[in-house]
Amino acid sequence: MGIQIFNSLSREKEPFIPLEEGKVKMYVCGPTVYNYIHIGNARPVIVYDTVRRYLQYRGFDVTFVSNFTDVDDKIIKAANELGEETSELTERFINAYFEDITDLGCKKADAHPKVTEHMDDIIRFIEVLIEKGYAYESQGDVYYRTRKFDGYGKLSHQNIDDLKVGARIEAGEKKEDPLDFALWKAAKPGEIFWASPWGTGRPGWHIECSVMAREHLGDTIDIHAGGQDLTFPHHENEIAQSEAHNDKTFARYWMHNGYINIDNEKMSKSLGNFVLVNDIKKQIDPQVLRFFMLSVHYRYPINFAKDLVESAAAGLERLRTSFNNVKHRLSVTAELGAENDEWLAKIEAVRASFETSMDDDFNTANAISDLFELSHVANVYLNETNTTTRVLQAFLDAFTTLGDVLGLVFEQQEELLDAEIDALLEERIQSRKDRNFARADEIRDMLQNMGIILEDTRQGTRWKRG
Ligand SMILES: [Zn+2]
Repeated sequence: MGIQIFNSLSREKEPFIPLEEGKVKMYVCGPTVYNYIHIGNARPVIVYDTVRRYLQYRGFDVTFVSNFTDVDDKIIKAANELGEETSELTERFINAYFEDITDLGCKKADAHPKVTEHMDDIIRFIEVLIEKGYAYESQGDVYYRTRKFDGYGKLSHQNIDDLKVGARIEAGEKKEDPLDFALWKAAKPGEIFWASPWGTGRPGWHIECSVMAREHLGDTIDIHAGGQDLTFPHHENEIAQSEAHNDKTFARYWMHNGYINIDNEKMSKSLGNFVLVNDIKKQIDPQVLRFFMLSVHYRYPINFAKDLVESAAAGLERLRTSFNNVKHRLSVTAELGAENDEWLAKIEAVRASFETSMDDDFNTANAISDLFELSHVANVYLNETNTTTRVLQAFLDAFTTLGDVLGLVFEQQEELLDAEIDALLEERIQSRKDRNFARADEIRDMLQNMGIILEDTRQGTRWKRG
């Protein structure tokens, strides 16, 4: 049947057919970089990394773009409080973001564009909207004329007249209509600004995604994704801007992930229950965090609670144990084995079921159940007396490929023994004597990656575990 995606536009599952055969253009709204990410921010990163991995597993050539909002009120406020340049602050948290998402098993996007690198493109885009009558300048600000865009409200399924009730004009705004939203904001004293045809200022938030999606992916993208809270107004405004500018459908499939609660409460500043990835990953294996996030279908809310995370940890451990038992058996099995079609068919059945789960709007909860089934079948097989390398290898391949789709690694990191470290250090000293610096560096890097810290002293090289 192929992949089905729940499209927020139609509120239905639709067969996934990309615009260009075999290619997927995907855009995910990224973070505003003024702090470490919290686990609410981590959910979309993990979910859409998994979507991307599955599309690649299915043979699609995926171009994945996710932006950084590096100009914004919160950034300016935080930089002023710390007495640093906004660029220093954002650079620091962009690096922290990459560290966190790498630990969570997420791959980098093909492009991570920043607002500050696209200022000229943003200004040109706004100029076109003004020329077409979709935007107007007002005392140094530029606003989008919301009522002029016919489809406004189609993503969040709201009628424009109902929206009017909630709309209001903030102090200092000079709009024609309360529903209009800012594309460009005139500079206020003490704020970072850029020159524009409307005077100095900076862009509004929504415009950046329309511009960066177009610059990196073209007029029409296949999948646009983000948290459910972005549906309105952010994504609704992106559609209005892009479709007015490009005269084409902006995004064909819209995916939105559900909220995260902490102990059944909404995560909020006032409740003081913000959980930063940077803190929690020191207490909980980031692979467990990932496994936990994927144990619930992405559209549903997820509850971050101690007992649920513990049960995720136990689940992941079960898979790791099976994988490592199979691997160990393989290392001591010499029998190549004749036909083992019965077991190979069982493994194939699990793989087919996994694909059915993921085809169904990326149902990772069911896909994890399929992995448990694989583990169960493997455990039964390991009780057989005459296991063969052919079947054991097929089990390992299935664990590895399907685990990789979910960004999970089952291989246990083997601890190096003190004696092995000493031997490697001896080899490094000898390599240096032989002027084989490449090998010496390789050994140093290898040890560093395993958390071993080397210290070169007059008396020789000392090491300690980091
Ligand atoms: Zn966005």
